[in-house]
Amino acid sequence: MIRKVKGTRDILPPESRLWAAVEAEARRVFGGLGYEEIRLPVLEPTELFVRGVGEGTDIVTKEMYTFTDRKGRSLTLRPEGTAGVARAFIEDGLAQRPGPQRLYYIGPMFRYEKMQRGRYRQFGQIGLELLGAATPQADVEVLLALHEFLAALGFDDLVILLNNLGDPEDRPRFIARLKEELAPQKEELCGDCRRRWDANPLRILDCKVPACRAIVSETTPIAEVVSDGARVHVEAVAGGLDAIGIPVKRAPRLVRGLDYYLRTVFEVVSPQLGEGAVICGGGRYDRLISDLGGPQVPGIGFAIGEDRLIDVLPPAFRDRVLGTRPVVILPLVPEAAAPAFDLARQMVSRGIEVRVEVTGRSLRAGLKWATKLGARAAVILGPDEIAAGTATLRDLDQGEQEQRPLAEIPDALAQSKHAEP
Ligand code: ATP
Ligand code: MG
Repeated sequence: MIRKVKGTRDILPPESRLWAAVEAEARRVFGGLGYEEIRLPVLEPTELFVRGVGEGTDIVTKEMYTFTDRKGRSLTLRPEGTAGVARAFIEDGLAQRPGPQRLYYIGPMFRYEKMQRGRYRQFGQIGLELLGAATPQADVEVLLALHEFLAALGFDDLVILLNNLGDPEDRPRFIARLKEELAPQKEELCGDCRRRWDANPLRILDCKVPACRAIVSETTPIAEVVSDGARVHVEAVAGGLDAIGIPVKRAPRLVRGLDYYLRTVFEVVSPQLGEGAVICGGGRYDRLISDLGGPQVPGIGFAIGEDRLIDVLPPAFRDRVLGTRPVVILPLVPEAAAPAFDLARQMVSRGIEVRVEVTGRSLRAGLKWATKLGARAAVILGPDEIAAGTATLRDLDQGEQEQRPLAEIPDALAQSKHAEP
């Protein structure tokens, strides 16, 4: 038996329905706010992520799927979506279009990570980017899009954590202060953090090891060190969200794993998954496009981990998506095939979910199969029905049945569908 690659997943039906339904909600909500889909390659030049995500990040140092192609070029399976959006923005001249650009993407990302619940080597992300607006209002809109999407799925227990990372100019000052405060306890930090000390000291704030967390919790928050410009910006974002009733929790030591963020950064956590498991991460990245050689265009965006999101979906949404009940059509003689498919065609166009029996089951076996499927009704086409131009319509909950002209069947089923609570 050939097995799937470690860390990848098969999303089987009916679970795959949840993925499709979640993505449909994203398209509806984001589309409603004027965001349009951008579909980008999964393969990119390695350099894009080294320069875009940052050389010292976990993603670039240890998580990328990088290989050389047949012509010796270094390619990488995309570990995240923002760098690709920035590349396309520059390469495809999106700056020439009337701005700002409102974009979203849905698709797989790849990171070589230790597998566990909610952590895979291929995982889905739903991401959104707003390019060409530097105002606090832009940040409010992006967080509104995020909040409305999660609300549409029925979430009411997710928490948006917000922090101010300051501007890149603030960072050396903050890092110097952080190191000064941590120096007495440097030897008590975990091995990873001692390595981060020189390579990427900000990431020490993000360490999940309890001992490191305790040490870090005593340090001065970055927001107390940032410039006035950054402070005013993020306070305006918080105020703008408050004014429209979107609750956020301030997280003074929140940092993100990607180098490009500045000022506004945020995460969404689920109490169901605990603090380690983040559903969504995002923030402002005003220098990314220019760092990649493009124009000075600011941006802000987020990426939602689809696997984790679906893992904690509210039961009502799950039930709504998974609880639909088909109608089965049982053609019992060869002459019944054409009327069966003709009925199926009419029912599909009325939005009635239908399954035609095509394996040659008898009436008894067909009804058993229908019950196993959770079907609400069966349309039986036997020799008598074919001769009379009728079908027997059987309600599988009540067990009642009646013979009706073929032409009435689709309407009868459409009505009983709407009659359900
Ligand atoms: P974590 O701290 O959990 O490693 P991250 O900071 O690396 O997350 P981001 O780069 O911000 O994650 O990606 C955005 C979202 O994508 C995460 O919040 C998470 O929901 C999801 N995600 C990231 N890595 C994985 C993975 N290996 N498997 C499944 N989902 C993931
Ligand atoms: Mg990670």
